[in-house]
Amino acid sequence: MNHTVNLLMSQFVTHDVKHFIVSKPAGFSIIPGQGVELAINRPDLREQGRPFTPTGLAGDRVLEFTIKAYPDHGGVTQALHQLEPGAELLMSEPFGTISYQGPGVFIAGGAGVTPFLAILRELAGKGELGGQTLIFSNKAPRDVICEAELRHLLGDRCILTCTGAAVAGYEHRRVDRAFLEEKIGDFKQRFYVCGPPPFMEAVNAALADLGANAESLVFER
Ligand SMILES: Cc1cc2nc3c(=O)[nH]c(=O)nc-3n(C[C@H](O)[C@H](O)[C@H](O)COP(=O)(O)OP(=O)(O)OC[C@H]3O[C@@H](n4cnc5c(N)ncnc54)[C@H](O)[C@@H]3O)c2cc1C
Repeated sequence: MNHTVNLLMSQFVTHDVKHFIVSKPAGFSIIPGQGVELAINRPDLREQGRPFTPTGLAGDRVLEFTIKAYPDHGGVTQALHQLEPGAELLMSEPFGTISYQGPGVFIAGGAGVTPFLAILRELAGKGELGGQTLIFSNKAPRDVICEAELRHLLGDRCILTCTGAAVAGYEHRRVDRAFLEEKIGDFKQRFYVCGPPPFMEAVNAALADLGANAESLVFER
């Protein structure tokens, strides 16, 4: 890993997701949607790099990450959530994950929204949110990352679905062919898909069925 950075602060954004604000190395630049490897700089963990997507703006003086913890793994995300400010992290150079190619439909499952958060925030700054749609699937409302911000940015083009809870203001369905046909008229536009493997399989199969082309990124846990 090329960079040593410091955790400046962390705070909960949902019950199991935290924002991490991290110092930014001089000259470090990132394109929204790119990922980096992060490891905790401790003897037992420094070889355990994991991929994450910075969610802040390219021009910010610090880096922001939005990271969901999986306590059942006893792995790196759990350890990250327990870090105190000042902790050292090792960080790789950025690598390509999902690149923005133009207006389209962003379809995310859970923490798979992180590359889209980076891209949509950048587009908001440029006044280019017109023509963008987000379909964001979670189990329950409490799992929705940055819900107020996403609803504010996209209005009724922020479509939230909660598969595990029937709650007013949210769809209560899986993202499948019927859902996409109902919500999206045009399947010639661009699709960007990111989420855990079973979600990706289902959404990509539905999109292929509808004749759509998608850029996709699988979030392996
Ligand atoms: C390009 C890319 C970008 C990403 N960006 C983000 C991001 O911005 N934010 C984010 O939250 N996530 C992101 N992810 C997902 C993130 O990388 C994983 O959640 C993370 O690597 C999990 O690390 P971990 O050490 O906690 O768990 P793991 O590495 O999955 O597991 C640690 C240990 O637990 C065991 N284990 C695995 N699965 C289970 C299970 N179900 N039950 C019990 N034990 C298990 C493993 O065998 C291993 O020993 C991204 C993934 C990719 C590919």
